[in-house]
Amino acid sequence: MKLILLGAPGAGKGTQAQFLQEELGLCKLSTGDMLRAAVASKSPLGLQVQEIMKSGALVPDSIMIDMIRERIKQADCKNGFILDGFPRTIAQAEALDEMLAREGKAIDYVIEIGVDDAILIDRIAGRYACARCGSGYHDKFQQPKQPGVCDACGSTEFSRRPDDNRETVAKRLEAYHTMTAPLLPYYKEKGKLQTVDGMAPIEEVTRQIRAILT
Ligand code: AMP
Repeated sequence: MKLILLGAPGAGKGTQAQFLQEELGLCKLSTGDMLRAAVASKSPLGLQVQEIMKSGALVPDSIMIDMIRERIKQADCKNGFILDGFPRTIAQAEALDEMLAREGKAIDYVIEIGVDDAILIDRIAGRYACARCGSGYHDKFQQPKQPGVCDACGSTEFSRRPDDNRETVAKRLEAYHTMTAPLLPYYKEKGKLQTVDGMAPIEEVTRQIRAILT
């Protein structure tokens, strides 16, 4: 199964992709995570994209398309994949369609996780993660049970994404509305688009996605 999760930053794509990966055994391809790993390793790609990401702008299409083209060729994607954060522009969506069509394949489902902008800013600006295991937390909505200690692994080290601040979030939302939202009619015309209510509790969003896939 080949599945795209669409939605603005903070809509919950990463959280839902993680559940689906565990449940369906599909490989999860998060372009944001791949880019952050490149930045952390100070690779040539990381150095090239670091400032772009910090500003909340999009990384050029050619870089992203090459990254996904290489990644989906790998063995763990043989049975399908969940895309989280790609495509983000019409050019990326067309390139993806082309690379799959060359293999006689196509995207099966595109699921939009819909959330109002006003909620997204609060969601993103307060989020942080355990620096050791990556478990996600939030200043307002999801504190660890014991303050300062990760529920999952007991670590006391946490980190925040450098682009998860109010100013950058506004730019990221603008990029979403101008560059990524046109993908909604693009996939709707192809009969692939389904929408779930991203303002419902996390488990309910997962239930709605599961209902689409089964
Ligand atoms: P995310 O973790 O998906 O919110 O992505 C974090 C940042 O990585 C974005 O704000 C962009 O700068 C960059 N990025 C991730 N995926 C893409 C993509 N498909 N196209 C362009 N830029 C991307």
